[in-house]
This record gives sequence, structure tokens and C-alpha cells, in this order.
Amino acid sequence: MFELENVHAGYAGATVLRGVSLRVPAGSVVALLGPNGAGKTTLLRVASGLLRPTAGRVLVDGRDFTAAPPHRLVAAGVCHVPEGRGVFPSLSVRDNIEVQARPGTEAEAFDRAVAAFPRLGERMHQQAGTLSGGEQQMLALARAYVQRPAVVLLDEVSMGLAPKVVDEIFAFLARLAAEGTSLLLVEQYVARALGSADYVYLLNRGELAFVGEPTELDATALAAQYVGAS
Ligand code: ATP
Repeated sequence: MFELENVHAGYAGATVLRGVSLRVPAGSVVALLGPNGAGKTTLLRVASGLLRPTAGRVLVDGRDFTAAPPHRLVAAGVCHVPEGRGVFPSLSVRDNIEVQARPGTEAEAFDRAVAAFPRLGERMHQQAGTLSGGEQQMLALARAYVQRPAVVLLDEVSMGLAPKVVDEIFAFLARLAAEGTSLLLVEQYVARALGSADYVYLLNRGELAFVGEPTELDATALAAQYVGAS
């Protein structure tokens, strides 16, 4: 179980999150929705240890990681796939995967990455920065996957990608979830996120406007949050 408990956070002079609590139970998919500027990316940055909250706690299986640096969260099984993908553009696909693998497990990591996205196998020696947007996103996901994470935090994985590529990525996420990995999914494609999620959190102006199951989320209320925002 991954938890944020009453988190307040922001940047110099600007409070963004105001008392947000969120739970990602083991093996579940949680969608975090909300209009531009609601604080979704800020919440993921707190969740991955990149931004320390001004109040509240970050818990992994009940253990407190609030003041922990990102690498300790990674060691606890929490992987962040940031917006903009987070691959090393000047390294090859192979090297991008290799730096993520524990020493001695590189061969297994390559196999795992290719099993996730066969297309990466054909491009092992290509510079990551020259891959298509979709392939870079696949590589970013593969880099998380080879670490055998317990929880993956995903920021707008479908951003700017063709529908067919988005299908492929969501099919992989479904497989990941079926294997028991928890996902916290920040998404702009509301319908897709709702289709894959067990629970939905709707964030607006740094506060939760809705928490529940996708079937409980009223489409009119959802639209109102988006229209009324910013
Ligand atoms: P989007 O979908 O547009 O990415 P979001 O819900 O992810 O939106 P955040 O990126 O978390 O929202 O931003 C929330 C607020 O915090 C915005 O008003 C933004 O301008 C501000 N903000 C984000 N990053 C910083 C930063 N590094 N310094 C100062 N303010 C920031």
C-alpha cells in the first residue's frame, strides 16, 4: 500500500497541494485526474521524493518516507515515470536499460524490456533521443519495469502519442497491473484512465474534488470540474 496522508506542498511562495490524502492499495490502478494546473505533477513529485511536502506524510506499507530522498523510495519499490519520459537521449536503448538494472542482472533486464515492448529489441543500439515519441515512452516504461517495481507513478504517459501507440502502452499497463504492480496514473485522456482504474481521484486547485470508483463518477460533475478550472 502506497499512501499520501494530508499532504501540503508547493514551491517558493506558492502552495499547490492543500491537504491531499490518497491511497494506492497493493495491486490496484488509481487514476489521478484534474484540469491543467490542479497539482497532479506536483503530487507525483511528492510521491517520488523529488519534492518534500510542507506537511503530511508519504507512506509505503506503513513506513514513513516523507523526508526520504528519491533513491530510497526507488529501493522501496516506488518508480516514477516523469512527464517528458525521462530517458537519457544521448545513450543507446541498451545503455538506458543497463543503467537501470542491478549489477549482474543486465541480461535479464534486456529480456524483460524486449518482452514488454518487442520494438525496443530491434532498436537496442539506436540513440534514445532519435526514437519516436512512442518508442521513447516505451523505453521509459521498460526502464521502470526492469526494476520490478511495486508501485509505478506515471505522468501523462499518453501525451502527444498516436492512438495506436496509446493502445499498446495501455495494454502493457494492464499486463503490469495483472502481474500485481500498483499504478498511479496521471492522465489527460479521462475515458482511458477511467477504463483502466479501480479508483479515481479528481484534483482541482490542489484539493480533492472526488474520490471513488469510476462508475460513481458522474460525467456532469467531471465536466464541471474541468470547465470551472483555472
Ligand atoms: P498540468 O496538467 O498542466 O501539468 P498539473 O495538474 O500537473 O497540471 P502542476 O504541474 O502540479 O499541475 O502545477 C500546479 C501549480 O504549481 C501550477 O500553478 C504551476 O504553475 C505551479 N508550479 C509547478 N511547478 C512549479 C515550480 N517548479 N515552481 C513554481 N511553481 C510551479
